[in-house]
Amino acid sequence: MTHPASELVVHDDAVRANTAFFTALTGGRVMAVLKADGFGHGPVVRSVLEAGARSVGVTSVDEALAIRAAGTSAPVLSWLNTPDADFATAVRADVTLAVADPRVLAAVAGAARSTGRTARVHLHVDVGMAREGCPTAAWPALCDLAREFQGAGAVRVTGVMGHMSAADEPDDDRNTRERMLFDNAVRTARRRGLGPLVTHLAATAATLTGVGAGFDVHRIGAGLFGIDPSGTTDRLRPALSLRTTVVSSRPAARGVRIGYGGVDVTEGDTNLAVLPVGYGDGLPRAASHRAEVAVRGRRRRIIGRISMDSIVVDTGADLLTPGERVVVFGTGTDDAPTVAEWAAWSGTIPHEILTGVGTRVARVHRTTTGDGAA
Ligand SMILES: *Cc1c(COP(=O)(O)O)cnc(C)c1O
Repeated sequence: MTHPASELVVHDDAVRANTAFFTALTGGRVMAVLKADGFGHGPVVRSVLEAGARSVGVTSVDEALAIRAAGTSAPVLSWLNTPDADFATAVRADVTLAVADPRVLAAVAGAARSTGRTARVHLHVDVGMAREGCPTAAWPALCDLAREFQGAGAVRVTGVMGHMSAADEPDDDRNTRERMLFDNAVRTARRRGLGPLVTHLAATAATLTGVGAGFDVHRIGAGLFGIDPSGTTDRLRPALSLRTTVVSSRPAARGVRIGYGGVDVTEGDTNLAVLPVGYGDGLPRAASHRAEVAVRGRRRRIIGRISMDSIVVDTGADLLTPGERVVVFGTGTDDAPTVAEWAAWSGTIPHEILTGVGTRVARVHRTTTGDGAA
């Protein structure tokens, strides 16, 4: 159930511009990473493909099937699945499966046989995150097993992927080491009879800093949505604005305690406005006392703790009118705070703000940017 007072506006032109930027930067080798509902932006698959992305990457088979259901025939890669995932449906839907574990590989091969088709597989090697890639020690055995299933016609290995741990710090030695481990893993796979192989190591930061460049595909997620984890470019545009509406407004004298615990107190005569968004809608409680919103083109600070459903804003001399529009965060083209500011106020990264906006907030797709009253 959405709350009609709030909306999350998705600026499609910003997503397209960011995608076009990475398409140009990589010579057209962008895989658009649209996990977690496109980093909270909803159905943008058509926009990123029209703006130059050649393929789509997501985590689970379910996410991959949702991309297919949106009507695209572009290659789709799914890289985070348990052995009991619905690989048969994935294979039928022509989803490529990244695999890092022999049990998952066996499950994929079994599902492929049951459909009478061959599963397209990328092998995923861990180069330094100790996360979902295959440990390098287990890599040769994984390649051998894949070769066996390939010989039997159940799978065809068409790629190798890795993911870097410190690409936002280009001078860190880990980058050199991780790149070398990736090169070795690709060489091992080829020597064990796999290929031709598409290789991909870089995500947004590694692409922008260049430490993961030079391979066949770049998996770009954050960058499509205006986040630069490397702090090296100002060319990316935020693509979400969160807007809400004043519920009520009232004057308050000095010394009024606000919200749960009464931890904030008005410092003088002022006005307060109640907005119907809170941590249940993705505004981190950790941003209490610090965060700001834009009202009538001015920044106003949140006062009191962020509640589940509402926040109170100190609007100074302005007594607002119920129904007035407020921008919680915008795209950086007006006076509203950005997602990056909200992340700083909350002690987190912009990704978490983007993906955390709750389901009570309706998504509205706009083809043009603008944070005004419209
Ligand atoms: C999320 C993710 C990406 C995209 O990373 P960004 O930094 O958002 O571009 C790429 N590869 C893998 C394996 C991921 O999990």
